[in-house]
Amino acid sequence: MTHDLVIRGGTVVDGTGAAATTADVAIDDGLVTEVGAIHGSARREIDADGRIVTPGFVDIHTHLDAQLAWDPIASSSCWHGVTSIVMGNCGVTFAPVAPGGREFLAEMMESVEDIPAQSILDGLSWNWNTYGEYLDEIEALPKGVNVGGMVGHCAVRVAAMGERSLDEDPATAEDIAAMVPMVDEALDAGALGFSTSRTFLHRVPDGRYVPGTHAAEDELLAFADSLGRHGGVFEASARLGGRNDPEGRFTRDEIHMYGDISRRAGCPVTFGLTQVDIVPDMHLRVLDHVAEENAAGAHIRPQTTSRQIGILFGLTGRTPFDRADGWRDLRDLPDRPTPVSRTCRSTGGASSRCPTTRSDTTWSAARASPPRPNAAACPSPRPGSTWRSNWTAGGSSPCRSSTSASSRRSGCWSDPRSSWASPTPAPTPSRSWTPASPRSSSPTGCVTRAGSPSRRA
Ligand SMILES: [Zn+2]
Repeated sequence: MTHDLVIRGGTVVDGTGAAATTADVAIDDGLVTEVGAIHGSARREIDADGRIVTPGFVDIHTHLDAQLAWDPIASSSCWHGVTSIVMGNCGVTFAPVAPGGREFLAEMMESVEDIPAQSILDGLSWNWNTYGEYLDEIEALPKGVNVGGMVGHCAVRVAAMGERSLDEDPATAEDIAAMVPMVDEALDAGALGFSTSRTFLHRVPDGRYVPGTHAAEDELLAFADSLGRHGGVFEASARLGGRNDPEGRFTRDEIHMYGDISRRAGCPVTFGLTQVDIVPDMHLRVLDHVAEENAAGAHIRPQTTSRQIGILFGLTGRTPFDRADGWRDLRDLPDRPTPVSRTCRSTGGASSRCPTTRSDTTWSAARASPPRPNAAACPSPRPGSTWRSNWTAGGSSPCRSSTSASSRRSGCWSDPRSSWASPTPAPTPSRSWTPASPRSSSPTGCVTRAGSPSRRA
């Protein structure tokens, strides 16, 4: 027979754990139909001698939530063989969003993942309120990779609690009652799970920890109940070890809580785990704790990276020294390039005092013209699709009809839930969220930030 495509002579690693073998691979109508010595002809052949031939990789921890809007092939992941991605990790997502919330969510993503907030604001349509509506938007985009996403705790908390979402005080029963329907809606609409951030590495621009960092166990167990009803994965950027936990007691409690969540929901729990020099054997202890919990009926699967994490630091961005007094003095010197602030961005850097640095230029380019996909650079074997879980049949969103007491609470985020009953977002949402205690302001109006070093984890 004549195949559509034959990839000849590559080293096939089929992903089953089987040993690598030299073989041909035939593809017909988009599916692998034969692996071995293929003698038939093909309409197209690829000589893969000296190459490895594998199924596409699934990257289960990405923050491509915004990038997909202007880069549907998800570069540079696809250059490394990734054909399916999961976004919405670490609690940071762009849905659900209440009026006035989009800038906060964009700036939080910039602070946590170093993705320019203005590019996020300009690159996305923001034509949604609920997570399901966000998935509709993603589904309608042209994509070169398959995409699935988790609903983020930060966004849920901000939509329900507004500014109070950043407080260290625990959420009230009323707050939890407002949040759970949002998670239900997201999972019902096809979210692959729920994600949260508990690490002290993730902060909003003014230095406070991202919403949900201090969430008490009862709040997280309420989300576990939602996962129990709908199915899905619980993903956490976990709080593990460090200087404040030399004996590992808090780390043990953290893993035990994940065990409780997994047993209660019957769901898998996953979190990132790497070896760190501060506590060189902590990862081994964590794995022991995980084994204990799994032996007690939990299903916890830590993730790790396939290589070291690399971070580029520069004077125009956040650095590890930002909270040191000595560095603060240097940072405020008049001739020193200041970090690119929202003020400079909103004026296109028009002020003579705004920096004209590489990151400013990068931002300007992104704002003026989001990079266009270069299909030739990264051909996709087939158009990507949006994964949606099908754990439950579809239904109406409970959020849309919610009239919880929190929706009537006034504050900076006045009536944050009111938009849930509205079919369209507010026309010109204003940014009402204000940092509680900006660390410093330079005379240029370009706010200097005192966040933590950016970490992609
Ligand atoms: Zn992450």
